[in-house]
Amino acid sequence: MAWYNINSQDKVTAETLEKPNTARCIFCSRERPVHTIQKIYFSDFEMNEGPMCKECHHEHAKKAIAS
Ligand SMILES: [Zn+2]
Repeated sequence: MAWYNINSQDKVTAETLEKPNTARCIFCSRERPVHTIQKIYFSDFEMNEGPMCKECHHEHAKKAIAS
């Protein structure tokens, strides 16, 4: 990702702008359409926030209900 180069008109930037809703999911690490931005807690001290794909959001929701 060339975020530092976001204002240029090069090929990489053009491709990025064509897929504004696609990002690397923080759960499964795959490039997928982003469903939502979620925070995940590894422990009381470790937290991460980032894009979450629809598939992982669905699994996470089921686990939350079960627990
Ligand atoms: Zn995912």
